[in-house]
Amino acid sequence: MNKNYEFLLKDISKLKNIGKKTALILKKKNINNIFDILWRVPQSFTDRSNISKIKDLHLGKITTVEITPLKYNFPRIRNLPNKVICEDDTGKLDCIFFNSYEGYIRKILPLNEKITISGKVNYFKNRYQITNPTYLSKDKSIVKKIHNKYSLTEGITEKKYNSIINQILDNLPNLDEWLSPKIAKLFCNIRWKESIIKLHNYQNIGKHNSKFFKRLVFDEILSSFIVFSEIRKSVKKIKKNKKFFLNKYEKKTIKNFGFSLTKDQIKTLKEINLDLASKSKMFRILQGDVGSGKTIVALLSSLNVIESGNQVAFMSPTEILANQHYNLAKKIFPNGINIELLTGKTDNVSKKIITSNLKNSNLQMVFGTHSLFQKKTLFNKLGYIIIDEQHKFGVKQRKLLSDKGGPNCDILLMSATPIPRTLTMAIYGDMDLSSIKEKPKNRKEIITYSKREDNIKDVLSFVKKEIDKDNQIFWVCPLIDDSKKIDHQSAIQKFNSLNKLFPTRVGIIHSKIDQNKKELILKDFLDKKFDILVSTTIIEVGIDFPNANVIIIENSNKFGLSQLHQLRGRVGRGVNQGKCILMFKSNLSENAKKRIKILKSSNDGFIISEEDMKLRGFGDILGFKQSGEKKFNLADPILHKDLFNIAENEVKRIEIEETNLSKYKTLIKLYDKADIIYDLV
Ligand code: ADP
Ligand code: MG
Repeated sequence: MNKNYEFLLKDISKLKNIGKKTALILKKKNINNIFDILWRVPQSFTDRSNISKIKDLHLGKITTVEITPLKYNFPRIRNLPNKVICEDDTGKLDCIFFNSYEGYIRKILPLNEKITISGKVNYFKNRYQITNPTYLSKDKSIVKKIHNKYSLTEGITEKKYNSIINQILDNLPNLDEWLSPKIAKLFCNIRWKESIIKLHNYQNIGKHNSKFFKRLVFDEILSSFIVFSEIRKSVKKIKKNKKFFLNKYEKKTIKNFGFSLTKDQIKTLKEINLDLASKSKMFRILQGDVGSGKTIVALLSSLNVIESGNQVAFMSPTEILANQHYNLAKKIFPNGINIELLTGKTDNVSKKIITSNLKNSNLQMVFGTHSLFQKKTLFNKLGYIIIDEQHKFGVKQRKLLSDKGGPNCDILLMSATPIPRTLTMAIYGDMDLSSIKEKPKNRKEIITYSKREDNIKDVLSFVKKEIDKDNQIFWVCPLIDDSKKIDHQSAIQKFNSLNKLFPTRVGIIHSKIDQNKKELILKDFLDKKFDILVSTTIIEVGIDFPNANVIIIENSNKFGLSQLHQLRGRVGRGVNQGKCILMFKSNLSENAKKRIKILKSSNDGFIISEEDMKLRGFGDILGFKQSGEKKFNLADPILHKDLFNIAENEVKRIEIEETNLSKYKTLIKLYDKADIIYDLV
């Protein structure tokens, strides 16, 4: 393989003119190697290509002049700048320097030599001045041209940054083409190197519809899809013992439900069952809005695994959720199936019994948190792991998960943040996907209202009516206390004021309260020991509070669409009509108005996340940023939907036609930030 690409993977400090200090500044911006810096594109440019005579200078304008230094004026008084008196054949001009040493000035502006300088022209005491010229050289050609402006110049001068970029562009390697001829033709056969050069040409700023730009976008998508495809292949290669079952327990349990499964529940359950019964390991994600019935599907499929003689582990992000799932299972599972709850709270004696029962297969299923896998919990025959995903895993973490439990263990991830298909491909492309779009029929849509803060009296009298009817209320504030931002409602303040109005009927929960206490408060709320729970956004997790039917969200304009939808999903899970009140200040931005309108008009998480992406870009939504998930530099699942679809088909073609991936190694080496492909191929 051609190793030309290695230049691009060199550490940024290997470039000429980059000292430790500059390298450190760049590294802080996540620019580690030369390849990384290519994606900071110029924002604008400064034209320094015209040389003016001193007599024609315009004040306030960035200008290039060719001058001859005549005399130094270095006042030995603090705070007075150093000055160099210069001229051309039409007049005089002073170069002013703050914070520069004499020696340096003598070097860059030697007397009686022609120097080209560029900077902003000022006028002071009847003289033209240029203060701290941006460019300054004996070599005219270095100054006299168009210079790119990059947003990333904090701590690095424009001159320095341009010299770095230009050095890289001058040394860009010719890479062997990885695109197939048919695909390359879509982009008029423009090569990678040429595309990068165009990307940094000031004439192309903002030309996101050009072939060169789309080619670079496509490269990003293609590389990530190839990596996903390799992960999938490697998981599929794992041969497992087929699980054999006749859906005996599953059918029995469904019969006892007071409801019938939705079409999507039936469809997804079938997809999972087929995987369980197949001879390759399942690695699947079950996606659906909060309350769409995912847990029921996961539990029904667990029954089949149990019927096949294997054990099941169900992992939740918090103890209270583990508890809820466990209790639900206890309620619906047929008699004779042994299940247990194993969390940090389980006492040592019970723990010992549980672990020994897992080892000798007396226990068929265990519910818990992370601790299920951290401790030495040994299963006799673990065949299925279900992970209720609130903690968005990155690709690399998921790859580790897929290895858990050994080859015979199927893996199901559940996600309550429905996202559009292109985003699913971009984020979960390593997994098979099952989606529940349709909600249970008995579920009423949550009614969403918006209220201005000054109408708080109406809200309070509404609250009073609701709690008199024995209903429960969530009251969400963006902040814990009001130390920082005065225009935000704080949970502590809200709690205090509500507590005066409704003594003993209000509770509070936020992230500074320790985990054990938090769970206790939530449990008390579940047990209806109080009526109003004031909180920050930590109630976002998927706990079922069947009696809570109202959620009030303060400063709702501070939250993203998807987050508001998730919050609202906390209510309306019981028999009573769910209601959501979005509180806001009077002056809303257009964007905030739009968000509120969308929420009022739709209860569908798929639609909402798509709108959210349109408004905010995909990087921001749903906390995928925090997961450390590989982020695209140029590609965007909404803007480049067409390219995602082309890449999807191309990868399918590659999977069938190309057994040898060496052609793509350069692409993957350069673009695979997760850096996992080399564990695989
Ligand atoms: P999710 O895990 O997607 O949040 P759950 O499986 O916990 O959803 O279901 C939420 C609630 O809806 C539960 O109380 C469950 O019993 C109920 N439920 C699930 N499926 C149906 C259905 N098809 N019809 C009616 N109720 C359902
Ligand atoms: Mg759930």
